[in-house]
Amino acid sequence: MSKLAVNGGTPLRDAKANPWPRWPVWDEKEEKGLLEVLAGGVWSYNGPKELEFNRAFAEFTGAEHALSVANGTVSLQLALEACGIGLGDEVIVPGLTWQATAAAALDVNAVPILVDVNEDNWCIDPAAMEEAITPRTRAIIPVHLYGGFADMDAIMEIAGRHNLRVIEDCAHKHGGEWKGRKVGSIGDAGSFSFQLSKLMTAGEGGAITTSDSQLYEKLDALRNCGRRPEIEQCGDKGAGHYGSEGDFIQSGNYRITDFQAAVLIESLKRLPEQNAIRDENAKYVNSLLSELPGVTPIRRDERETMGAYYNFSFRYDKSQFKGLDVAKFREAMAGELGCDVEASYEPLDVCSLYTPHTKPCRHKLSEEHWRQIDPARFSLPVCHRIYREESVCFHHTILMGTKADMDLLAKAIEKIYDNAEELL
Ligand SMILES: *Cc1c(COP(=O)(O)O)cnc(C)c1O
Repeated sequence: MSKLAVNGGTPLRDAKANPWPRWPVWDEKEEKGLLEVLAGGVWSYNGPKELEFNRAFAEFTGAEHALSVANGTVSLQLALEACGIGLGDEVIVPGLTWQATAAAALDVNAVPILVDVNEDNWCIDPAAMEEAITPRTRAIIPVHLYGGFADMDAIMEIAGRHNLRVIEDCAHKHGGEWKGRKVGSIGDAGSFSFQLSKLMTAGEGGAITTSDSQLYEKLDALRNCGRRPEIEQCGDKGAGHYGSEGDFIQSGNYRITDFQAAVLIESLKRLPEQNAIRDENAKYVNSLLSELPGVTPIRRDERETMGAYYNFSFRYDKSQFKGLDVAKFREAMAGELGCDVEASYEPLDVCSLYTPHTKPCRHKLSEEHWRQIDPARFSLPVCHRIYREESVCFHHTILMGTKADMDLLAKAIEKIYDNAEELL
């Protein structure tokens, strides 16, 4: 008789009868905000909700300014553009991240330089980053991946020595803190995503934080078709007062709507409590995991004063599970728990959604540039090991559960450990 749920045994959790916490979270407060926008008629940009959200988000992150934009992809792109980065420049990004981190550099005509990550927290390896610096390097985009925190002390120190801009990709880390400072306020700029799966969401959306007022002014123009506001913000139906003609710069429309801002205002209010629950649960389940054979928690840096988790992840070692492949382990975990269990992102040198050479009409700026943007020229052995052999990832909703739910995670690992031969 099989014991494991993937083989027809009884699962540890009947997720139909006992579902995991739902996402997204909303109630009548979001409804009220949305109806206010509807009735107010300022559905587009610089509306009252957007201005309120920008102020609240800046205050929350501790940056001087925050600007809402269409998503967390163009936020990276605009941050690079505002820093004056483009053709002939190199931008260092980790090899293990969502494709947007590198694609943003590509889309401003810069060359994304992929570097390897630390095996213990899956974030960019500062030593590998420094080795990749050339006279053309202009910026680095560290990603605070899943529950990890990029080593901002090392990164800021190296960037300072080489005169590089630092754009934090905070798409996984809303509210995370490093030595008491929130993500997005440590580098020159912070980039956030409010896509549905993220820790704050309006379905889609993004934001850029910065304390550099020159960057802020440029970003404000770049997200809004190049318009430079003469007065700080204009709130009316789009007719505001803008700078004189010579001030305008070439750009496009990267704005969000006031509907999204209305939802984000409530999302931001919910975040601290949700983060606290996730952080406490992650600490608890990691303490259980550290007692189990064959699994290793992601290293939590002691300089990280507040955790934030887009995913809950850990490292798997098949040699301790009688050689059971990690993909089968993940399937077995999903079977026991009734939730999705995924691998990490594909390393960007082999990522099916990061393929610059499929678009010659856009990216073949020169033969040399074409060669330089080839992702296959980079070597990312740690990213590959994480992706192919070690990664076990759960969406953050799992951390919104109870302590008993966390116990179940550890029990599922033990059950698979005890019955691994069923799957060999
Ligand atoms: C989600 C994400 C982005 C892009 O955000 P979108 O809002 O989906 O465009 C960028 N970087 C990372 C690490 C992400 O996870």
